[in-house]
Amino acid sequence: MNYLLSHSTFPVTADLHTHTTASDGHLSPTELVDLACTNHVEILAITDHDTTLGYESVKDYAQQRGLNLISGVEISTTWGGQGVHIVGLNFDVTHVAMSKLLDFQRGARQARYHVILDKLAKAKLPISEAELLTHVGDGQIGRPHIAHAMVAKGYVKNINQAFKQYLGAGKIGDVKNGWASLADTVSAITDSGGVAVIAHPDKYKMTRSKTLRLIDEFIELGGRGIEVISAKQHIDITEKYSKIANDRGLYASVGSDFHRHVSYAPNVGQLPTLPRSVTPIWHAF
Ligand code: AMP
Ligand code: MN
Ligand code: MN
Ligand code: MN
Repeated sequence: MNYLLSHSTFPVTADLHTHTTASDGHLSPTELVDLACTNHVEILAITDHDTTLGYESVKDYAQQRGLNLISGVEISTTWGGQGVHIVGLNFDVTHVAMSKLLDFQRGARQARYHVILDKLAKAKLPISEAELLTHVGDGQIGRPHIAHAMVAKGYVKNINQAFKQYLGAGKIGDVKNGWASLADTVSAITDSGGVAVIAHPDKYKMTRSKTLRLIDEFIELGGRGIEVISAKQHIDITEKYSKIANDRGLYASVGSDFHRHVSYAPNVGQLPTLPRSVTPIWHAF
């Protein structure tokens, strides 16, 4: 590792899971870096969905501001019949293995939003491509953008209702097919010099045995980390995943999954510090 953190002790203000307008976040990469500096974040990763363009656009600026910004990405995969997100950290963004994976995911996102728009049209909720694109910046298209378009069309009252009725797990707009496999995702992150991390493990609502199967397969494939702290969660959850991380020899990561300012979610870097029992992920950088 090439910077100070290798010698630092707890607590470190780290936030290794955040989003910008390069995917479905509401702050530009510059605004996010500014906010991280205001909040005294020491190590930040921008982990936009399936793109590193936000990180790349702000890398030099972060350095000017003295912020330790590492490369990051959040990859959508399908495993065990459901969506699982893998965060990649501290990899070479120019590596061919990563650009191939991101090209593939970009194609999958393009194909997916057309399928979702077709399904919505069949359910008498038409949204034209042009209408959708007014809600997308220059980044990756995701369901939150479709949710915004549904609100604008008056189909639903708010984003939450859009997910609850049409876009969330098991609903017509929950189109999972087409993502890279877990194996290809972990390989691309590892081959490009990074560390693969299971994102928000408690969000998948898996049984304990399915969670452990995911973790064991992930490790087999070369995965090395798990988010022990993700956004606002009960201390019991932190303890559960700390124990699993230690049992399985995984590094522990921490991230707000910040998308925008909301009362129910943490601000950038405003998270509990990792328990002392775990090995923080930056020891693997
Ligand atoms: P996608 O990347 O297209 O699969 O969309 C997933 C994204 O939708 C997540 O990363 C969240 O940012 C957002 N999301 C998921 N569930 C909800 C929800 N119930 N309300 C608002 N946003 C959500
Ligand atoms: Mn998101
Ligand atoms: Mn996610
Ligand atoms: Mn995320």
